[in-house]
Amino acid sequence: MKELRLSLNEIGDLEDIYAELQKEYERVADELNFSCTGCPDNCCDSYFLHHTYAEWAYLWEGVRGLAEKEQEALVDRAKKYLEACEQAQLSGQRPQVMCPVNKDGLCQLYKHRLLVCRTHGVPAKITRPDGQSMHFPGCFVCQEIVEKQGMKDTVRPVERTPLLRRLALLENKLLHMKRHLHPKVKLTIAEMLVKGPPELSFGCGEENNG
Ligand code: SF4
Ligand code: SF4
Repeated sequence: MKELRLSLNEIGDLEDIYAELQKEYERVADELNFSCTGCPDNCCDSYFLHHTYAEWAYLWEGVRGLAEKEQEALVDRAKKYLEACEQAQLSGQRPQVMCPVNKDGLCQLYKHRLLVCRTHGVPAKITRPDGQSMHFPGCFVCQEIVEKQGMKDTVRPVERTPLLRRLALLENKLLHMKRHLHPKVKLTIAEMLVKGPPELSFGCGEENNG
């Protein structure tokens, strides 16, 4: 197994995608006068799965920047998170457990947080490859604002499609155009932390005979 690390160019590409997303997010948030400040909720306890090696590797670039003790504490919290999720799932509930990266209410890896963490809150839209559109109304606070301001039909949501397309291209490049040959990623952040950085069983130019 070989650890998958992002090159400087790939890090630049991913940060550029995040920056574009940030601009889109701010455009919509400004239009609605929306912010998380003062919200009694904390969305870092939402249960999300993530799907790219690129983001997994970038998360680990952030983990490596922490002191060793902090890294150990983070992985310990991630293990506890997984136990709590398992308990919830065993009792038939969708887990709602605080993300292990959230320390004292703040994201410990803010620069390295994942795409989903960056899009939650405001209305957004995705057009799937089959042409079908999916709409996300935003969090409950945002939905209340939209309702109060009567902007349901006028607000232009965050358009995630081109950014997700760019992320898919980056992912494919990172996997040497053999994305289809590698196991699919479908992991919580905690699982990404407990498993360690992403590894590939075969690399550039090698065939998967296994
Ligand atoms: S996204 Fe919405 S629900 Fe979540 S913390 Fe921000 S305002 Fe609150
Ligand atoms: S990575 Fe950071 S922003 Fe994302 S859920 Fe965890 S603590 Fe929250």
